[in-house]
Amino acid sequence: MKKGIRYFKLLSASPTGLRSPLVTVEIVIAPGIPRHHVVGLAHGAVKESLVRIRAAIQRAGFDFPRGAVTVNLAPADTRKDGSAFDLPIALGILAADKKIDASALAEKPVLVMGELSLDGSVRPVAGVMPALLRSVEQHVVRALIPKANEPEAVPFASIDVASVSSLQEAVDQVGGNASFKAVKKEPACDRGAPEPCYPDFAMVVGQRDAVRSLALAATGRHNVLMTGPPGCGKTLMARCLGGILPPWTKELALEATCLHSLRSPGLHLLAHRPFRSPHHSVSPAGLLGGGNPLRPGEVSLAHGGVLFLDELPEFSSRALEGLREPMQDRVVTLSRARHVESFPADFQLVAAMNPCPCGLGSLTRNECRCSERRRRSYLSRISNPLLDRIDIHVMVPAVDPVDCLQSSSTDSAALATSILRAANRLANEKPRIHEDAERALTRASSSLGLSMRAMSSVRRIAQTICAYDQEDVVVKRHVSEAIRLGGQGRRAVVD
Ligand SMILES: [Zn+2]
Repeated sequence: MKKGIRYFKLLSASPTGLRSPLVTVEIVIAPGIPRHHVVGLAHGAVKESLVRIRAAIQRAGFDFPRGAVTVNLAPADTRKDGSAFDLPIALGILAADKKIDASALAEKPVLVMGELSLDGSVRPVAGVMPALLRSVEQHVVRALIPKANEPEAVPFASIDVASVSSLQEAVDQVGGNASFKAVKKEPACDRGAPEPCYPDFAMVVGQRDAVRSLALAATGRHNVLMTGPPGCGKTLMARCLGGILPPWTKELALEATCLHSLRSPGLHLLAHRPFRSPHHSVSPAGLLGGGNPLRPGEVSLAHGGVLFLDELPEFSSRALEGLREPMQDRVVTLSRARHVESFPADFQLVAAMNPCPCGLGSLTRNECRCSERRRRSYLSRISNPLLDRIDIHVMVPAVDPVDCLQSSSTDSAALATSILRAANRLANEKPRIHEDAERALTRASSSLGLSMRAMSSVRRIAQTICAYDQEDVVVKRHVSEAIRLGGQGRRAVVD
């Protein structure tokens, strides 16, 4: 290397998606005119990073090197965005300039991520958890991350993680083997994410059929649409559903939390399947994902759990149509400029709507003053392809005052027990469908004109009912209940 040129490299990650690519940060300081560049497909916050880094380095009591500073982010073909490169670039500049001892960074590959403030403090960044996941796969054994991101490191036992809250602390950590102080990760002491609070099904008055439909939906992860007048308990029941979802695997929890990490840094591993309920004013980008850099939307934050859309027809048609891809493929693909990113979006859709614009609808038609045309235009906001992807259609009637006097329905704990038993059964082996039941299904499908998708959905619901009722073989009774929940309900909404 030419005399006077100083070089250092270290490891970071681009927090763009679930499979965050690891990035090598190279620093070259050359004598001459002070010109500073960041190269290697750097966008947005990365391009401006040298301004923050210069201020932070000076604030930490070091001189910013004289001469030309070039930062290269490799590989050059992956896009880098966000502020996570601040800390590795700052450490790299100080190390190349021989201002600090960075032997810990030279000994072993260390993942370094963090945003710098002008005052030298290290701020949390998005996407630390997916970066750690990737580092583990690539056999990186150490990581240096912002203090506020620390909870995200807890699930990774095989990687030593140090967390820092200022550039000075980071400098102290990288001085050598002895100075690298990994935080203790004791899952036993870790409280995990706080348990979300859901209402109990015991609070629901009447509505036995609807409660059973929701329990079946939770068991088989079927999409469900509840239609009924305001005040009948649709929203309450949907929220109750959040509390009775079957448990999930560690792998799925990790994948889901990684998606959350791209939006909100510093989360613990999610202990329960997520329940997301965006307001109907949510933008298509908020629902499906978007922004700059591209970030997951509600459909991905609901990955592995429930996406609850209350007042379904009030959502924008672009948002609703955008649901078709993730409901079909369990993944959502976003593009912005030349950047394309896919995020998993395996959610269970739970939706609720009024039967007509005034809400009093067909169930209490005498009170409804909506014209037939207005009613049809309201219902037509939900397209047939979207309706076709909804497995269970529940008509929720207004609460009968007599029901209020009856004892309350089953509580959430009892439902959760039945759901867990049935979900385990379905996960091991799906119940066999009896020939008579299969024939009945074929007959019904031709008389009702069910699509192939609807037919396979009815078949799956029948298996769920069979498992939920603790029976061994799917018989006609299960199929007819499944058709009532799916096929005919669908027609009732469409016609
Ligand atoms: Zn009406």
